[in-house]
Amino acid sequence: MNGIKTFPKGGVHPHGNKKAISSQKISSSQPIKNAHVPSMAVIAMSQHIGKQAECTVAVGDEIKEGMLVGKASGFVSANIHSPIPGIVKSITEIYLPHGVKTKAIVLEFQGEFERSGKAFEKKTWIGMSPEELNGFVADMGIVGLGGATFPTHVKYTIKPEQKIDSLVINGVECEPFLTADHRLMLEKPDEILEGIEIVKAITGIRNVYIGIEENKTDAISHLKHKIQEKKLDYTVVSLKVKYPQGDEKMLLKAILGREVPSGGLPIDVGAIVSNVGTVFAVYEAIVWRKPLTERVITISGSGVKYPSNLKVRIGTKISEIIEECGGYRGKPGKIVLGGPMMGFAIADPDMPVTKGVSGILVFNEKDSFKFQNDPCIRCGRCIRACPWNLMPTLMYKEIENQDYTGALAMGLMDCKECGSCAFVCPSCIPLVQIFKYGKLLSSKK
Ligand code: SF4
Ligand code: SF4
Repeated sequence: MNGIKTFPKGGVHPHGNKKAISSQKISSSQPIKNAHVPSMAVIAMSQHIGKQAECTVAVGDEIKEGMLVGKASGFVSANIHSPIPGIVKSITEIYLPHGVKTKAIVLEFQGEFERSGKAFEKKTWIGMSPEELNGFVADMGIVGLGGATFPTHVKYTIKPEQKIDSLVINGVECEPFLTADHRLMLEKPDEILEGIEIVKAITGIRNVYIGIEENKTDAISHLKHKIQEKKLDYTVVSLKVKYPQGDEKMLLKAILGREVPSGGLPIDVGAIVSNVGTVFAVYEAIVWRKPLTERVITISGSGVKYPSNLKVRIGTKISEIIEECGGYRGKPGKIVLGGPMMGFAIADPDMPVTKGVSGILVFNEKDSFKFQNDPCIRCGRCIRACPWNLMPTLMYKEIENQDYTGALAMGLMDCKECGSCAFVCPSCIPLVQIFKYGKLLSSKK
């Protein structure tokens, strides 16, 4: 499979902001470092798609590092483990960036680490059954780390009638500023490749494709070299730098030429997509029996002094992570969790890191984009930019006119909130916010 591939229609080209610009060091050249151990961790019970985990501890309990503190409470749910040893100070409720309220454990650091800094024997997994392996993936609380946070063991549970022939590993990282996956591919290629072998053993899938944007030439050549060295039959696919290339449906279109139907999943077209960070977490879960208690996060943007890639313990306050990166550069205007295109702006920097946080972006006041909401000039740019063939300008007018039925008929629910339309809109209309609002109100009708 040669040549640079991409999805056929729409998409945009935001500036990557991943390499050095003027005097400011941007994070792609920054190796992953361990973040500090927080003195207090706030562990949310809802860090995944699906039902919130059931809290298994009480105030005053003594907690060991890696202990189960939240138990998956349904088929689509995930276990949650303690990132530090400590004492439960309180059990409270907090708001997550997308506005959802969840129960959270406030844990004060005390005692000794059971795992961190200790040497363990590598566990062999060859010969284990798919059920046993996937059981560990579930036990260790692994969820999709590309941002979706779908429980990974559920994704890897394939029914006999489902014919899946392709495993697509997502190393695209198309959101500007984010470089955590890029660094992981450079620094942990052996672990990622072993993680893929484990996923193959769980799912029985033979064909493996690793999709990476062509601007990450070092990661592409590094992985190709390792694949050759290990005599693995994987295909590394260079993808055009175009947003939202990392969306799993766009990825399948680009790599396999398969179109996921409206409302469908990759499994409907015979494929499973997993992010590189997720397969790395699967590797750690199986080989080291390590629960998902920390993840790599990119900290970047014009408003932070030293852009970095840090391995951060879940539950650490965002403000402490920014402080660790030298603090604010100028007056902060906006803090975004995730990438600038699909991330969530937060009002409270003391919010804790959850499993789904891939980036912490700080923009100073000057660079904080403000929507103008000028009138639509009917330029049609948003229509050309939408990879899902939607008509953003018409959809937004239907919502403005409170005609939610009309907006739904135009495919409102197929909108992935990717932000491509808003990015190109010369009138700076907050299209994504309008579509989110429209979805919310139409579901209440
Ligand atoms: S936000 Fe929705 S309407 Fe706009 S480009 Fe993305 S999918 Fe299309
Ligand atoms: S890009 Fe903006 S101004 Fe142009 S048609 Fe779409 S909504 Fe209207």
